[in-house]
Formats: sequence, C-alpha cells, structure tokens
Amino acid sequence: MTVQVIYVGFMPTNCYIIYDEQTRQAAVIDPGFDSGKIAASIMGGYTVKMILLTHPHYDHFTACEELRQLLGADVYCYGTAVRFIDGSDNTINEIIRRPTPPVKNPIPLTDGQIIRVGSLEVRVMYTPGHCEGSCCFVAGNAVFTGDCLFKDSIGRCDLPTGNYGIMLKSLAKLKKLYKAEGDKEVFPGHGDSSRLSYEVRFNPYIRESDAFIE
Ligand SMILES: [Zn+2]
Repeated sequence: MTVQVIYVGFMPTNCYIIYDEQTRQAAVIDPGFDSGKIAASIMGGYTVKMILLTHPHYDHFTACEELRQLLGADVYCYGTAVRFIDGSDNTINEIIRRPTPPVKNPIPLTDGQIIRVGSLEVRVMYTPGHCEGSCCFVAGNAVFTGDCLFKDSIGRCDLPTGNYGIMLKSLAKLKKLYKAEGDKEVFPGHGDSSRLSYEVRFNPYIRESDAFIE
C-alpha cells in the first residue's frame, strides 16, 4: 500500500489517497476541498472507485460530491454520519454559512466492517467524540484517524455532538489497537503524521484514556 497526502483547503485538511499496487485500485479519504487538485494528483494507471469519509465535518467532505461525479465513485461513511452528509441534517455544519454540497447516496459503514480497495483490507473502527459518525480506517500498518487523534493532540470536542468522555473511550480503542496489533503509522485529518507507539507514550489525552481500556 502506498499512501499519498494532499493538503486541501485553508486549514489545511489532509486528504489521503491509498493505492493497492496489486490491482491498481485506489481510494480517496476525506476530500475536504479542491476536487480538481485531488483528481489531478491520482497516480497514473490507478482507478478510484471509493471515497471514504472519517467524519461528516464540512472541511472533510465539501469536495466530495464533485469528486464523486468526476470519478464515478461511491462514497462510504459511518452509518450515523449519513444524515449529516446527504443534506438531511446540517446541525453539525451550521458553523459555516453556506451549506456543504450534499453527497448523493452515501453508503453506511458499521463498526468492525471490512471494506476492500482492490486487495487491501480496510477496517472501520467507530471512534466518536469529535462528532457523531466519526470513525478511523485501519489498513495494514496504517490508521487514518480523521479528527479523533492528531500528533500530540486530539480533535476538539466542543462542537455539536462532540463529547470529551466519549472521545476518551475512542482513544482507549486506539490504544487497544496498538496493544493488539503493534505499531502503526498514524495519518490524521490535520497536521503531521505520527506513530501509535509515540502517541500511546506521549499524547496526554491517550494517557488519560487508560481508565477506559476494557
Ligand atoms: Zn472535524
């Protein structure tokens, strides 16, 4: 698996493309903005038929519908995120004045579900706390954490449907993942990449999540 990061929008947001060399299939994660830039960045010879969303915040899916049409791809998000993506509920994105372009027919994911990008297996891990409908994607030795886990930090929990206590439980899940499967590279929704081993050791929020390990 090859991972490419594309910085999109004003924050910026990390949009990722994951590539399966065996089958030449690829998937885009979190096309926040700049659909043209993302489409132009796809490596030659690869086909993208899947767009995955870590969570339903506008800075992670504003370019999603445009990119979906451009590529003829399907969009996947956690089940409880669907209503925030398809235009039926704008409560968690009313922070911005202009509504985010609704995504047509997003496909709902469940906790623990495996989706396949060519021969790659991508596992869905439900990790709410930053907002409802947040999940991480575990693929090989990588985990795409959206706005759940950042290098040395976490996403904010004070926006609509955010909850710090629930966030700690999600962080405990990531710590459990590290204990069960060993080290993985962390690709967050914003900022630098990191490693689970580093975050488990130094991230103050993951350390605080200890009480929630089941
Ligand atoms: Zn967010």
